Amino acid sequence: MSKKKQFEIVTIFPETVAPYIEASILGRAQKDNLIQIQAHDLRNWTQDKHRTVDDTPYGGGAGMVMKVEPFDKAVEDLRGKGTTRVIVTSASGKTFTQEDAKRLSEYDQLIFLCGRYEGIDHRVQEHIADEALSIGNYVLTGGELPALVMTDAIARLVPGVIEAESLEQESHDQQGYLEYPQYTKPSTYKDWEVPEVLLSGDHKKIHDWRTEQSERND
Ligand code: SAM
Repeated sequence: MSKKKQFEIVTIFPETVAPYIEASILGRAQKDNLIQIQAHDLRNWTQDKHRTVDDTPYGGGAGMVMKVEPFDKAVEDLRGKGTTRVIVTSASGKTFTQEDAKRLSEYDQLIFLCGRYEGIDHRVQEHIADEALSIGNYVLTGGELPALVMTDAIARLVPGVIEAESLEQESHDQQGYLEYPQYTKPSTYKDWEVPEVLLSGDHKKIHDWRTEQSERND
């Protein structure tokens, strides 16, 4: 049996992670031992009695910046024996895509570092993380949602997490197609009709229609 894929989410709000995971298909995948998603409290890697994770920025300016040392120690402790990729969540990082999800799904372990406040001491990106990823051109209050978004997109590509067939014709596949529109029963709701071709039973016509729709979305 292949090793289960590990996702480590390092955050000062570890309690935000489990509710989403447990309520989703990823919870089942964890129970089936296909993946393991763990949230870790960054404060476990602080040394002082106040468990300080932030400090004022060098050069002045508003707000607080997260310190390098707790992240460094966390990664040191969490890094496993197999292949690991360390990702720092950052609004100014490269935008995460489906291609990144596929690429990252090849690693045995992913460690996500979540910022808060004004962000993280840049040395984390320079010396600890392998890459900095953003989930879009907007600024969130923390890296937990980005880490969860990326974990979700990557974990569903792990064999067995969802039906292989569902992954075959999805949006953002290798050819860059988007998925064709999907419909289910009833065929008429109010006066909103399902496209007739889908009710025809003619598989060739249905296939052609879907291909055309995917290309139109391209
Ligand atoms: N001062 C930073 C800037 O202007 O880019 C924003 C810091 S943000 C308030 C705090 C943390 O949220 C960041 O360190 C990062 O971990 C996370 N974050 C916010 N927006 C993000 C995004 N679009 N993608 C990934 N992470 C994000």
